[in-house]
Amino acid sequence: MNEKYLFIETFGCQMNVNDSERIVTMLADLGYRPTTVPADADMILLNTCSVRGGAEEKVYKRLSHYRSLKKAHSGLILGVGGCVAQQEGDHLLQKFPFLDLVFGTHNLHLLPDMVRGAEKGERRCETAFIDNDQRLDLFPPVKGASRLSRFVTVMQGCDNFCSYCIVPYVRGREISRRAADILGEVRQLADEGVQEVVLLGQNVNSYGLKSANEPTFAQLIRQVAGVEGIRRVRFTTSHPKDMSDELIACFADVPKLCGQVHLPAQSGSDVMLSRMNRGYSRAAYLDRIRALKAARPGIAITGDMIVGFPGESEADFEQTLTLMEEVRYADLFLFVYSARPGTKAAELPEELSREQKVERLERLLALQRRITLEINRSYLGTLQELLVEGEGKRPGQVSGKAESGRIVNFPGDPAQIGSFVTVRIVAAYQNSLLGELAQNP
Ligand code: SAM
Ligand code: SF4
Repeated sequence: MNEKYLFIETFGCQMNVNDSERIVTMLADLGYRPTTVPADADMILLNTCSVRGGAEEKVYKRLSHYRSLKKAHSGLILGVGGCVAQQEGDHLLQKFPFLDLVFGTHNLHLLPDMVRGAEKGERRCETAFIDNDQRLDLFPPVKGASRLSRFVTVMQGCDNFCSYCIVPYVRGREISRRAADILGEVRQLADEGVQEVVLLGQNVNSYGLKSANEPTFAQLIRQVAGVEGIRRVRFTTSHPKDMSDELIACFADVPKLCGQVHLPAQSGSDVMLSRMNRGYSRAAYLDRIRALKAARPGIAITGDMIVGFPGESEADFEQTLTLMEEVRYADLFLFVYSARPGTKAAELPEELSREQKVERLERLLALQRRITLEINRSYLGTLQELLVEGEGKRPGQVSGKAESGRIVNFPGDPAQIGSFVTVRIVAAYQNSLLGELAQNP
């Protein structure tokens, strides 16, 4: 088989990163090896995200850019997958005559066949949603990049219909993977030497709620933590309304479950939360945060916040600032609201100008930077167990992840990569910590 090269550009969330890893795994069977240089590629795929506005334009720009490569390499196959592909479908092939493939979020399994066709000059678009029985069989294991920490998809899609969000439309309804398949994959990963698994889905903590035969998410975590060889378990993303007492209890009594949780609030204002159709109040959210902190003192909480949702007054916005002070997020992903066609919120009148939204975003950023730095400084002098995952920032350093998810660089040896070490934190920065080896088990 001739050697062929594949370049994938991935936009958006971990789900897309995971899908890209799956594409690399599948296309390796057709002889495609990944490259990081687009000009060397025989196939370029854009795995797209449409959560925020402007995504389509960004993809169109990239396509025009790659078109020039196609002029130099006539056999170059060009494809678009993911959420923009799902949304735009056949229009993309019509709009871009040099585009070969369009594949939606439920059609990854068709890609090898589509690529074989494209190699013979066929152009094809596949964006149909498929039925649940078939979906259950389409969660194949993925050969991820890391030897040590891997994502394991436990569910896909979303039924929540938050009023601003396009995900339920482009990813389809929620479906939980069979627990037996998940555990089989985790055991396989453990056999390969993987030490940490991150259970992945749009809303992992509603896992199993629709399927009487599957365990609850809390039971699933206990089963995954029970797999020999797996030393750390994390999960992302969670929805506050499904953060059950049973799940919170796992933080108290499953030691392998890391003390880190991503629990997006989106806003601190009850009026905004209700307009966003989030299904919880500020008080209910804070109640879950208190329970999490009680179950695992020091737990690192991260989240997402949207600024400038339609109708957000200065008072609503200040509620978000006070929520951030109360929760004290270790990190926060901040999004400026953008209307997504087809969602409920897109019908609401927008009263804030772009400048007002950006001004609020900057206030949120400044507050979060202060809180993050304060939290990072609170680790000074503490001992942290790290899974050493790679080379550090500076020569002579290696880098590991603490239980809280914090990145810690320390003077060390690449031979330590893959092992657990304990370090004492000696300096704290905005985005990372510096440690010194305390003991080497
Ligand atoms: N399922 C996850 C949850 O509910 O937390 C998040 C999925 S979404 C891909 C990631 C984040 O994008 C959301 O938490 C939200 O903050 C942000 N987001 C979604 N739609 C948005 C929009 N129309 N404008 C701005 N941000 C948006
Ligand atoms: Fe979007 Fe809400 Fe579903 Fe998250 S829970 S994916 S924000 S609809």
